[in-house]
Amino acid sequence: MYNDIKKDLSLFNDLALKILKEENNNPIATNISPNKINETLDLTLNHQPTNLDFFKKTLEQILINTPKSSSKLFFNQLFGGRQSKAVLGDLLSVFLNNSMATYKIAGPQVAIEKEIIGKVCKIIGYPENSGGTFPTGGSMSNFMSLIVARDKFDSHIKSKGTSKKLIIYTSENGHYSISKNVSFSGIGKDNIRILKSDFEGKICPLNFERQIEKDIKENNIPFYLNATAGTTVLCAFDPVKDLSKICKKHGIWLHLDGAFGGTVIFSEKYKYLVNGIQLTNSFCFNAHKTLGAPLSTSVLLIRDKEDLYNSFKNEAEYLYQTHSDQFNLGQTSFECGRRNNALKFWTLWKAIGTYGLEKIIDHEFNLAEHTYNYVNNHPEYTLHSFKNSLSICFNYKDYDPIDLCTKLYEYNTIMVGFGSFKKKNFIRLVIVNSENTTKDIDNFFSTLEAFCIQNNNKINKIKK
Ligand SMILES: *Cc1c(COP(=O)(O)O)cnc(C)c1O
Repeated sequence: MYNDIKKDLSLFNDLALKILKEENNNPIATNISPNKINETLDLTLNHQPTNLDFFKKTLEQILINTPKSSSKLFFNQLFGGRQSKAVLGDLLSVFLNNSMATYKIAGPQVAIEKEIIGKVCKIIGYPENSGGTFPTGGSMSNFMSLIVARDKFDSHIKSKGTSKKLIIYTSENGHYSISKNVSFSGIGKDNIRILKSDFEGKICPLNFERQIEKDIKENNIPFYLNATAGTTVLCAFDPVKDLSKICKKHGIWLHLDGAFGGTVIFSEKYKYLVNGIQLTNSFCFNAHKTLGAPLSTSVLLIRDKEDLYNSFKNEAEYLYQTHSDQFNLGQTSFECGRRNNALKFWTLWKAIGTYGLEKIIDHEFNLAEHTYNYVNNHPEYTLHSFKNSLSICFNYKDYDPIDLCTKLYEYNTIMVGFGSFKKKNFIRLVIVNSENTTKDIDNFFSTLEAFCIQNNNKINKIKK
């Protein structure tokens, strides 16, 4: 009675339709403070089973009160909206429940993952012997790339560890995973050099080269650069081509973290933002950010697939019993049992074509331009970001952005976050939901402005 998949599928349908309706009627879920959550919702786990009607009602209440990341007023994170063909693929992965470790257990799903990786490698101009994998997210992609680079630099580190001063470079706007990853890799956080960026948030090649020379003088070993295609706050694109020349000269591994903006590779119009990408040693992007696939859909590409294999291969007689390593993807992954994150991207890509992916990216840049122009043309706004970016950063009148964003959340009005760059705080509106239209952006601003009129006295002002 409790384990009935057909009944639960139909329950799922009911609940999913309920979520869709809610998103429309109440785009912002009523926020509940953590110390009230157990009074508001029945989350208790008990010895006795639950009556199924009550079970359904409880679920509905939980769903209604969960933040709605696909609604039109959600701009809080680098994901949002849902591409239905990708959702379909992900639901099917759950239903199939394979692990991507071996061909024997995943069959065509392995070939699907390989098709995506092969296609992306072609698109970015990597050579024939390139490869990749689907890590659990952008942070893990960055981690794996660092490990591959470390082992490529010195294959003995795997077994012996190292006390060499291997130096890692990233920008002050690089993702916070870099610092965690450097500690996990055994290289040590003291060996990160944080490069000051230029006024638009990009790494300045001259700065980079000066820092390298300083490190060489001090007998350190420059070895890895994390450049970013779409920094997390400003969505700035580091100058890959210029940086690659310096990396080549000094034998430095160039990783391009495109978790946010790397999907520009699909757009004829915007791929110039990652000019020189074919010269990188590794590259990653998240299809769960700008492309609207469900969390997490991350792809890591490695210029020489042998390097990925050398770092992640493992002996496991109980697991690898058929087929060659090329089709047993556990040989190039961090996880043992690995979720199928490829199918959802494939169903999306197969259905709408590369043409469709391009349309999504171009539409988001159009929305971003519309947003940029709105802020730029209204004198009561101050712009803090730059052109050709999916992140529009601004302040409104003299409202303190941190307090304003927090109040917008507390009063169940808009989900949007704040950020900072070079010691200035601002509201950060990210354009990652391609289901939005220019009307939705205009609605964001009119909702914000009306909220400020209504709550003027309650919102802190920026201290001059
Ligand atoms: C989001 C992001 C990441 C982390 O990706 P996750 O999938 O959330 O782990 C890494 N780098 C950049 C630039 C990002 O924007």
